Amino acid sequence: MPVDFIALANAGVQKLQPYQPGKPIEELERELGITDIVKLASNESPLGPSPRAMSAVRSVLEDIHRYPDGSGFRLKAALAERLGVRAAQITLGNGSNDVLELIARAWLKPGDEAVFSEHAFAVYPLVTLACSARPVAVPAREYGHDLDAMLDAIGERTRIVFVANPNNPTGTWISSSTLDHFLARVPKDVLVVLDEAYFEYVEESAYPDGMTRLAAHPNLVVTRTFSKIYGLSGLRMGYGVSSVDIADVLNRVRQPFNCNSLALAAAEAALDDADYLEYNRNLNTTGLAQVAEGLEQLNLEYIPSVGNFIAFDCGREAMPVYEALLREGVIVRPIAGYGMPNHLRVSIGLPEENERFLEALARVLG
Ligand SMILES: *Cc1c(COP(=O)(O)O)cnc(C)c1O
Repeated sequence: MPVDFIALANAGVQKLQPYQPGKPIEELERELGITDIVKLASNESPLGPSPRAMSAVRSVLEDIHRYPDGSGFRLKAALAERLGVRAAQITLGNGSNDVLELIARAWLKPGDEAVFSEHAFAVYPLVTLACSARPVAVPAREYGHDLDAMLDAIGERTRIVFVANPNNPTGTWISSSTLDHFLARVPKDVLVVLDEAYFEYVEESAYPDGMTRLAAHPNLVVTRTFSKIYGLSGLRMGYGVSSVDIADVLNRVRQPFNCNSLALAAAEAALDDADYLEYNRNLNTTGLAQVAEGLEQLNLEYIPSVGNFIAFDCGREAMPVYEALLREGVIVRPIAGYGMPNHLRVSIGLPEENERFLEALARVLG
């Protein structure tokens, strides 16, 4: 009898579905033999990386035979100054997903619970199950987080609440007053992970900055990333900011060299490239309006978004629409795995990419 290694895996791991990433351009080229593909599937920057980040990478290339600075001293110092926090409050991660996983590993044990919203980012149940803890998905309200229902879902065994603001894949967001009402009521021994992966895109005046809540809430961890507006998805660099004690714990479970030297240098340079950030934000705001208007013209309902993506309702099962778009050379993201089988999520691209998506969608829907 061959040994069943799946049955021997940790209980939570056996229930895990692997994360479904957006289809890579090369894969579609291989599968369909087509070129000139537009990828609007992973909320990446359509601009390419910041020239400053690229030149920083070039300048450290000749040192890659050395281990990176495991403390991330320079990047942490730059972030601390930018964010008005102490370097000791920062945890650097191999993408902010790494930080999410560190938090789960440090505080969740089998039988514990982590609370998050229905339609929220797929990594929350993933890291929870990987620790054999119990994911508690709370029904959403109009696709957004229902923070009052999430408060009600917190029980004896709850160790972590994940809040995505804005949320991916829905693009919904929580206002300052709603967040503050929530933070004031979460038990003080439950960690609140406020995932602000799209923070820099949001232009709403009532949108809260999680960093300004840290002093009042020692149980809060705010996570951000260089993968989205900073255009460094491929290098993997994200961070968490928290109380010094939480950061201390995270830095104990973190691998000594979880962030590579190219990513550290690129992130430090990208942080200084205010022009890139500003240009990217404006491009996104214009693109959001362009795509929203195009969807309206096609009589498709969409969820108003403050991120760099929009989820829209195909009015029927979305998978065939997704596949037909692939044949048009346009990659978007099916989100049936998020409980939204009729929706697709499209990332905002360059104006001509958005246009190509809208034209292809019009043809596909006939
Ligand atoms: C993209 C994204 C992240 C960031 O992932 P990285 O690991 O930093 O690339 C985190 N949270 C949400 C909700 C996201 O959409």
